[in-house]
Amino acid sequence: MRAGGHNIAGNAVCDGGLLIDLSLMKSVRVDPTSLTARVEPGATLADFDREAQTFGLATPLGINSTTGVAGLTLGGGFGWTTRKFGLTIDNLISADVVTADAKLVRASEREHQDLFWALRGGGGNFGVVTSFEFRLHRLGPDVLSGLVVHPLDRAGELLPAFRRIANEAPDELTIWAVMRKAPPLPFLPPEWHGKEVLIFAACYAGGIKEGEEAVKPLRALGSPIADVISPHPFTAWQAAFDPLLTPGARNYWKSHDFTDLADGAINVILDAARTLPSPECEVFIAHVGGAMARVAGNTTAWANRDAHFVMNAHTRWHDEAQDSACITWARWLFEATAPFAAGSAYVNFMPDDENDRIEKAYGANYRRLSEIKGRYDPENLFRMKQNIRPAR
Ligand SMILES: Cc1cc2nc3c(=O)[nH]c(=O)nc-3n(C[C@H](O)[C@H](O)[C@H](O)COP(=O)(O)OP(=O)(O)OC[C@H]3O[C@@H](n4cnc5c(N)ncnc54)[C@H](O)[C@@H]3O)c2cc1C
Repeated sequence: MRAGGHNIAGNAVCDGGLLIDLSLMKSVRVDPTSLTARVEPGATLADFDREAQTFGLATPLGINSTTGVAGLTLGGGFGWTTRKFGLTIDNLISADVVTADAKLVRASEREHQDLFWALRGGGGNFGVVTSFEFRLHRLGPDVLSGLVVHPLDRAGELLPAFRRIANEAPDELTIWAVMRKAPPLPFLPPEWHGKEVLIFAACYAGGIKEGEEAVKPLRALGSPIADVISPHPFTAWQAAFDPLLTPGARNYWKSHDFTDLADGAINVILDAARTLPSPECEVFIAHVGGAMARVAGNTTAWANRDAHFVMNAHTRWHDEAQDSACITWARWLFEATAPFAAGSAYVNFMPDDENDRIEKAYGANYRRLSEIKGRYDPENLFRMKQNIRPAR
């Protein structure tokens, strides 16, 4: 099944098989009275946000507006408002699903509860979702958001401070740390373009005044090269990283969940950030927790509720000759940070060579997922994904 076509494992396409392309099914229908939205599987985050924000509403999605709602939701989904409103799956009310035996069923808390549990994090293993129903929250139209950019050589003292601020942050505040070579952003002095920087990307999912108070500790750190935190339309902030994530690149990702960001992990990440193998490679540390962590780990198939940070070695390049250098760098960072990691993993960030990690990624939830897979797809028809094997 192809929805947004974003999954870096390439699971939207297959060789010698059938591709169901859902990308033209883009309808997003918002009901501002019941605060719900019905979304077809070809909608991107931009499609969803545009319609929901027309009514000043939103549900938690990811940070790149060209991502597909379907794949993101089925793997779990987190972004700028997850700490306030939960994961994307925590806001899923129901889904229409075509199962492997060609039946159309509705999964919700009342119907096919087992399927509904598995869909929320199970990564599309259970059937073709033809429609999603989401709960919406009031947000925007403007949110306090933006970037604070520092030289990477200050990161040794700034990252522990980031950890403290992130640990103490209210649910409304989310701060991601990104280490990469500076893109030629208009607000950065030209001498910094192409140099290694540490970027704090922050968003406050609440009032602008309260947000200004909440981001003060972050803005007080060090001597930034640039600080462009200000009110922005939520839809613009949701698309702010799109220019860095255009289609057509070669991608390889390795990621870990962390319950806390150990000093040892910070040291390794800094070593990696000093030796980035291409201008588009980056290490990001996503800040999660909050509302997501207040849901019990067995409520949905998503198992990593205790994660407070998600690190991604986001390796991106264009020239095939760089394959080895980039992939080796990502694997090295992954191995070197493993001793500090929680052990769980986000299936939506997994490359295609991590099949042996899937069972561990779901932890205690894997057995139940496998049993439900056995009920709904015993022949493993839907296997072009981070595959859950059917129990026999
Ligand atoms: C640049 C970039 C930024 C990202 N940022 C975030 C982020 O901030 N937060 C986050 O949580 N994730 C993020 N992701 C990961 C993203 O959630 C996954 O890549 C997700 O799988 C993308 O969904 P898609 O619909 O675009 O993908 P696709 O490649 O179309 O599909 C992904 C998988 O889901 C299956 N699938 C798709 N549609 C259906 C359906 N209707 N029914 C059943 N199965 C289906 C596919 O078969 C495939 O296995 C990002 C990815 C990229 C590349």
